[in-house]
Amino acid sequence: MTPRPPTDTRTVVVGSGMAATRLVEELVARGHDNLIVLGDEPHAPYNRILLSAVLEGTHRPESLTLRTPAWYADHGVDLRLGARVLEVDRERRDVMLVDGETIGYERLVLATGSIPTLPPIRGLVRMDGTLHPKVHAFRSFDDCRRLVAGLSGARNAVVVGGGLLGLQVARALSVRGLATEVVEGGEHLLRSQVGAAAGAVLARGLERLGTTVYTGARAVRLTDQGLVLDNGFTLETDLVVLTAGGRPSTALARRAGLTVRRGVVVDDRLRSVDDPLVHAVGDCAEHGGRTTGFVPPAWEQAGLVAAHLSGDDVSYTGSRSVARLRATDLEVAVLGDPERTEGQVVEMTNPVVGTHRKLVVRDGVIVGATLVGDLSRIGLLTQHYDRGTVLGPEEPGALLLGDRPTRPAQLPDHAEICACAGVSAGRIRACSSLEQVCEATRATTGCGGCAPAVRQLLAQRPSLGTTLEGIRS
Ligand SMILES: Cc1cc2nc3c(=O)[nH]c(=O)nc-3n(C[C@H](O)[C@H](O)[C@H](O)COP(=O)(O)OP(=O)(O)OC[C@H]3O[C@@H](n4cnc5c(N)ncnc54)[C@H](O)[C@@H]3O)c2cc1C
Repeated sequence: MTPRPPTDTRTVVVGSGMAATRLVEELVARGHDNLIVLGDEPHAPYNRILLSAVLEGTHRPESLTLRTPAWYADHGVDLRLGARVLEVDRERRDVMLVDGETIGYERLVLATGSIPTLPPIRGLVRMDGTLHPKVHAFRSFDDCRRLVAGLSGARNAVVVGGGLLGLQVARALSVRGLATEVVEGGEHLLRSQVGAAAGAVLARGLERLGTTVYTGARAVRLTDQGLVLDNGFTLETDLVVLTAGGRPSTALARRAGLTVRRGVVVDDRLRSVDDPLVHAVGDCAEHGGRTTGFVPPAWEQAGLVAAHLSGDDVSYTGSRSVARLRATDLEVAVLGDPERTEGQVVEMTNPVVGTHRKLVVRDGVIVGATLVGDLSRIGLLTQHYDRGTVLGPEEPGALLLGDRPTRPAQLPDHAEICACAGVSAGRIRACSSLEQVCEATRATTGCGGCAPAVRQLLAQRPSLGTTLEGIRS
């Protein structure tokens, strides 16, 4: 076994977002005690996924905090907020903050996330470089706060971008009572994840919920009259929310002379290919020619770097892709890349109730899946997908058509319940309370989509005494 390095090696983490927080949790659990976290946002690390829930009004802003500054202090971690790193000097092995302070490192982890891209719409930015007062980005806590403040007095809103984030924001604004319109340049909604049939079901679902959808239309100009589309329409609006894409935040790495393509290029230990003392994790990292952009891979990478920094011989081979939309009355889950993966397609659309289910099957194994409008089968499908179960010829159809979906209580211990943190039913069953589930496994602390299943599993546990015996033995 590889000898463990001294745990007081100084590790500096740039960024205090979702990947950085998970990394620090793992390093603390492994006994590291010389950690400095430098985050440019002024807020305690928070759950970015749930910003749309704050926008919708279902979560209080404080409830998004992942770890409080007191938690960092209690665990001997030096958390600096409002601390933007301007430069990395790899020769001197230090980083320089915006106020000129330099901090030395022995290991550096870049967890700088991604930044929203501005679509080419004239009039978004004013002469002084600031956004037009009607225009909002939606990436950070401050963006969210500014948008929530802008809701008072607003009657309508246009969301530019019909991807996962755009649909979350559109639903949130609609739930808040605004007449909401979505403008998507592609031919259908969620075009990076799903096909035309699923996109159409989603569009109809949104229309039913009161949101108007324009696909195949690009916003080109913001004027006093409204947002002008390239099809000649002008949408009068009080608010414009930009959700049309982002890119890895790599300027710091680039200036430090590290190889950057779309993201910071890393090897199988998530180290920069130029410098073994520098790692990159989360949205800013590029491994095997791919960047990610979701929490599950960010957390998986954070866990791997923590293991590597603790001396474990681990290797990253890429993360499986699971995308899930989190919005009231709008359910979407996508396993793998069903639109681009080859295989036999078993598909069922029910426009009357607004559901679409699709499996891509190769040699009897599910290699991709899309569920829209009804996620009751997600647990079972994920289980087969993860395990590469070879299905009989009747099974894919039965899985989609069966009218009695598997309840969480029926799932075997190895079935995955929380996709964000990769937690199985067995690990949930071994916990005695929701608090213990959160603390010990991190399930429910990501997108929260697993919370109903976790509650059902906990409710179905045998008496506490019996289970505690089981855990002890
Ligand atoms: C509104 C919204 C909803 C989302 N919903 C989902 C979802 O439902 N499911 C899902 O899986 N994913 C979702 N995502 C994506 C998910 O949030 C990201 O994949 C995840 O946060 C990546 O973690 P990260 O730590 O790499 O980046 P981030 O969480 O973005 O953290 C990066 C941090 O680094 C800071 N930083 C950058 N440069 C510097 C610097 N030079 N110095 C100091 N600090 C710096 C940034 O300000 C930021 O705080 C959503 C994203 C948004 C914006």
